[in-house]
Formats: sequence, C-alpha cells, structure tokens
Amino acid sequence: MKRRDILKGVVALPAIGGVNIAGTAPVVPPRDYFQELGLRTFINAAGNYTTMTASLMPPEVMSAIQSASQRYAMLDDVQDKVGQKIAELCKAEAAMVTAGCWSALVLGMAGVLTGTDGKKVAALPFPEQAGMKSEVILQKTHANGYHLALANAGIRFVFVETVEEVEKAISNKTAMLWFLNREGPAGKIGDKEWVQLGKKHGIPTMIDIAADVPPVENLWKFNEMGFDLVCISGGKALLGPQSTGILMGKKDLIAAARLSAPPRSGIGRGQKVNKEEMIGLYAAVERYVKRDHAKDWKTWENSIAHIKRTLAPLKGVQMEDILPPIANHTPSLKIGWDPAVVKITREEMGEKLRNGSPSIETIAWEDPNSIRITVFMLQAGQEQIVAKRIREELVRASS
Ligand SMILES: *Cc1c(COP(=O)(O)O)cnc(C)c1O
Repeated sequence: MKRRDILKGVVALPAIGGVNIAGTAPVVPPRDYFQELGLRTFINAAGNYTTMTASLMPPEVMSAIQSASQRYAMLDDVQDKVGQKIAELCKAEAAMVTAGCWSALVLGMAGVLTGTDGKKVAALPFPEQAGMKSEVILQKTHANGYHLALANAGIRFVFVETVEEVEKAISNKTAMLWFLNREGPAGKIGDKEWVQLGKKHGIPTMIDIAADVPPVENLWKFNEMGFDLVCISGGKALLGPQSTGILMGKKDLIAAARLSAPPRSGIGRGQKVNKEEMIGLYAAVERYVKRDHAKDWKTWENSIAHIKRTLAPLKGVQMEDILPPIANHTPSLKIGWDPAVVKITREEMGEKLRNGSPSIETIAWEDPNSIRITVFMLQAGQEQIVAKRIREELVRASS
C-alpha cells in the first residue's frame, strides 16, 4: 500500500513540523455513543455516586485530557510534575495521583508499611510474614466499609473506642492510625486528638476525606493539622476524572507509596492511572481551587429555592432543607408527602422520575414517603426540569 493510499483513509491531521501538537487533534465528526449503544442518560439530582458515573468533567478538564493525549511522556515524570503542582495547590509536602480515593488508601497504606525498601514492597500483601508492622488502629464507628481498602496491603484491624483503648492497642506491630473524616463526629476521639496520638507514639496517621469538598479549605486543612497522609476522590466534587484520587502528605511516604504503584509492579499495579487522567486531575484541582465558591453556593441555593417555590403550593407536600455537615456538604432538599394525600411510595416516585422524559435520578432516604435531591451535579437550567417533573408526579399521585 502506498503512503498516499494510507493517508486517504485518515482525516486530515493538522501538523507542525510533522508533529501533531496539543489542541490540533484530528477533527472527527461527533458521534452520540449513548444513543448508538441505547444507553439511558439522565439528569443527576442524586449526587456523586459511582453507580451513576458520579460527575461530569468540565471543559477545562476535557481540554487537559485531550491535550495530554497527543504526545508521550514518561509516566514517572508526569506523576512527579503533576504531584508537585497538586501538592502546592493543597499545601501538602507531596502528592500523587491514584486510581480513586480507594487506591489512595491502598497505596498510602503500602507506603507506610514498606518505606522505600524494595524487598518490603515485593513482600506485600503479606507484611506479617516479612516481619513488617501489620496492624491499623481505627475507631469502631469509622469502620463502614472504606477501611477495607487498607486490608489490600495485608494488614489487620484493631478497633477501639476511647483514647485509653488506643494507648492499650498500640504495640510494635502498629503500622498506622486511620481516621474517616465523615465519621469524625460519630467517634469519641476527634481528628486533632488522633493526630496527637500518632505523634506521641511516632505512628503515622491517615485520613480519608473522599467526598469532603466543599469546603475547599478541606484540601489543605488536614495536611496543616498534621495528618501524615490525606486521601480524597478526584471524581466527586472536584470534577476530575472519575478514575482518579489524590494521595498527599509527607514526602517520604508519597515516595514510598509510588513504589507499589504503576509503572512498577506491586500490589497497586492494577490501579493504573495514565498521563491523561493525571493531567486532567491537575486541571480539575486548579480549577476548583480558583473557583468563586460563594457564587457556586449561591447557585445551588437558587436551584433549591426554585424547586421549593414550584412545589410549595402542593397540598400534603412538606420540604426540608438538608445540609450534610461533612461529605457532600452542599444545599440539598428532602421532599416528603402525606401518604393520605399523595398516594405514591418513594420507590414508585423514583421509578416515575427515572422512566420519565428526561430521565432524572434522585435518592431515597430513611423516611418512606420522601425523596432527596442534591443540585450540585445539575447543569445550568436543569433545576427547572427537575422541579417541573417532580411537581407533575406529585400532582398526578394526588388526583
Ligand atoms: C467515595 C469514597 C471512597 C472511594 O473513593 P473513589 O474515588 O470512588 O475510589 C472512599 N472513602 C469514602 C469515605 C468515600 O466516600
């Protein structure tokens, strides 16, 4: 086949000096893959849920991904540079991009166990057999499933409730003290006290703040508080790629964690993150830190207010503002109804909204006759559609 013939089949490649540079990728006609594949798409009035693909990446992030996809770079170099920038933005000593917050938990744990000893890295997930420390202490109330990420490194858990129990549980096997920010108020020991316990005994502390921006300050609060490692999702409110997270904290621990992550083999080898996602996350964090957060908050409040105004005249409907104190801390709304007036279950309501046009996802909560909505994942104007559709279903169920 002649070169000319090969090129015929390719959409014109704008090139400078023979190199296809960033932002000049071949233009291909847009395709609607969702439609082609017969996939239901929906308005997300539920929140950052992995099952619902969590969040939409803004243009800044997509542009970064597109740009990063056009050339090669050494993966470690990208991780070095992006890690440094994210660390600066989050006021941490060091940072790395991981495959979600879960992966940050796994890799951070690995780094704590192994340090930069290659033999120890190769010994995971069997720290005990290799004579390494192998226990992680956490409060019982913090054991809600996400702690299991740490077990990927082969550790065992020691559950405690009080400071006295922590002191008693600490031994020469203790590798780390772990804290789940979301459950902070549920435990007897607070975050600052947790850090102090770690410092007193020379044991590293780690905190999971996966879904805990806003407020933006949480990006640096726990680094400044003295946690050795902080883990957060990249694809929740940060609006980075859904498959990313950040592990940040002490320089030596981040360097150690990277030894268990790609491109090296080790327990994190399956948690690959490529240059596009790393640079995409960098763009997302930068965008997020620079945002006018007060304005975002006002937008969310306005959306909630619009929905409330639309539903307020309906008989038998009660609404309640909800502001989760930690995690998904954004203005939200509970919409409840008197079952004697509005004859529909919350499951039926969820189905009606899901099967309507356009499809809308909401969440159900503990109260049987209510649904909950968040507005921070809505695109501009969608609050009007959400309000209209919920109103329609409430009215229909009341007649
Ligand atoms: C979402 C979440 C995780 C997992 O984060 P991914 O980015 O999906 O890997 C871990 N911990 C908590 C508390 C979470 O909410």
